[in-house]
Amino acid sequence: MTTEQHPVLGHWINNRSLPGGSGREAPLHNPADGTRTGSVALASATEVDTAVAAAVAAGPGWRATSLSRRTGLLYRYRELLAARREEVARRITAEHGKVHSDALGEVARGLEIVELACSAPEKLKGELSTEVSARIDVSSLRQPLGVVAGITPFNFPAMVPLWMFPLAVVCGNTFLLKPSEKDPTAARYLAELAAEAGFPPGVLNVVNGDREAVEALLDHPDIAAVSFVGSTEVARAVQLRAVGAGKRVQALGGAKNHMVVLPDADLDHAADQAVNAAYGSAGERCMAISVVVAVGAIGDELVRRIAERAERLRIGPGDDPASEMGPLISREHRDRVAAYVHNAPEQGAEVVVDGTGYRVPDHPDGYYLGVSLLDRVSTDADAYRDEIFGPVLAVVRVGTYEEAVALVNGSRWGNGAAVFTRDGGAARRFQLEVEAGMVGVNVPIPVPVGAHSFGGWKDSLFGDLHIYGNDGIAFYTRGKVVTTRWPDPSDAGVDLGFPRHD
Ligand code: NAD
Repeated sequence: MTTEQHPVLGHWINNRSLPGGSGREAPLHNPADGTRTGSVALASATEVDTAVAAAVAAGPGWRATSLSRRTGLLYRYRELLAARREEVARRITAEHGKVHSDALGEVARGLEIVELACSAPEKLKGELSTEVSARIDVSSLRQPLGVVAGITPFNFPAMVPLWMFPLAVVCGNTFLLKPSEKDPTAARYLAELAAEAGFPPGVLNVVNGDREAVEALLDHPDIAAVSFVGSTEVARAVQLRAVGAGKRVQALGGAKNHMVVLPDADLDHAADQAVNAAYGSAGERCMAISVVVAVGAIGDELVRRIAERAERLRIGPGDDPASEMGPLISREHRDRVAAYVHNAPEQGAEVVVDGTGYRVPDHPDGYYLGVSLLDRVSTDADAYRDEIFGPVLAVVRVGTYEEAVALVNGSRWGNGAAVFTRDGGAARRFQLEVEAGMVGVNVPIPVPVGAHSFGGWKDSLFGDLHIYGNDGIAFYTRGKVVTTRWPDPSDAGVDLGFPRHD
């Protein structure tokens, strides 16, 4: 469907495109040049109802579909997604702005979770104890929840949806995805590929929208569980509202990830990794390093080496193979990020590299920002306290290992934390003492592989179970324990005592 000038992305329900019916739309842009590329329909509660009804109707048939057939569809989906990874990556770059190689990396990390979903027969096989008492056997089963909703952020428009729906559906649930309204096209393509792979109608649905659609999902009585990934304030509100409506919920929030560099670290390696992890994807990663903690006397040298590398980065359109970093998601966000750099000196920081004046000559209307490096940042400064979510790296200097760990543990967030050192004993202490859900030792962005689970502590996650890995399987299923006795006739008789196992 199109308006006069722009295509309008509608919803995807029962394996078919459905135009929006609310009369509300949001604009879509290409951040590389600022052009308007289309619009996305914003669902009302009525459209959310239609999508939920499709997922409810598909539920019984899907749940009764054999595990082997469900897994077979996931295998086919894996092959299709691998074959079309370039097309997915092109859609990501065109709406999000990240460079093509990074978009391909995002798809690869999403594929890992599809591969994990292919191992469902192993993951769902349950447990059995025989003869726990005379002729009594006990088995533990995991069963699907029903309809699950996924609400995802702009910064990984394909990977985060892939963290959710492959596992949810292979476990026998039907799924309703509400992608970010800033870059919804990649998620739509993922759903079209699922239909092509043979997912029956109603198993994977996409409803586009903003807060109104999210709140309708959270309140909907037919939705059993919600997986949310986004900013901390929204994650907290989503968790409270969904729990209030009786749902199971995991809500992953924002972050401020510290990289502690100990005095014995290889400083060139640490500087390379700090630059990669701070400025990759323009800093718009929940696992980006946004604070480097320089321990001891290495501060000047480390800052010099990071600055030297940062100044050489090539910034430009994501579809230009020469670009190492693309634009930010929107003009407003670009300006908000730049304000942190402008305000840094009055809050006591030293601006070592200032990227705020950077422009790409052929693309004057693109949402570009150069990279910035702030040194001697105080923990009271806004640039330390807030999640900036842009290409701004803050360096904080401390004297000792203990001060570094106290600094990291004093943060309200606890997503990722990394230590750079050659000292195995110090690294081991850090792993045990740091308050974060994901820890890197000489690895700046410790995003777990699919077989493990992803999740932070403190204000980086609301709920109990982390996402994907074994926690993902546990989240999308509920446990049932069956105690069975097939008595022989000699067991006859009445006994009012509480069941014992002896
Ligand atoms: P966001 O919170 O603005 O939006 C996330 C989703 O929530 C979107 O689908 C959006 O439509 C919806 N939403 C926005 N405001 C809402 C409201 N008031 N009520 C209900 N729903 C609302 O996040 P974003 O800007 O798209 O993404 C960036 C944020 O996500 C960063 O804070 C980043 O750290 C975080 N993030 C976290 C992880 C993680 O795994 N912890 C991963 C990726 C991104």
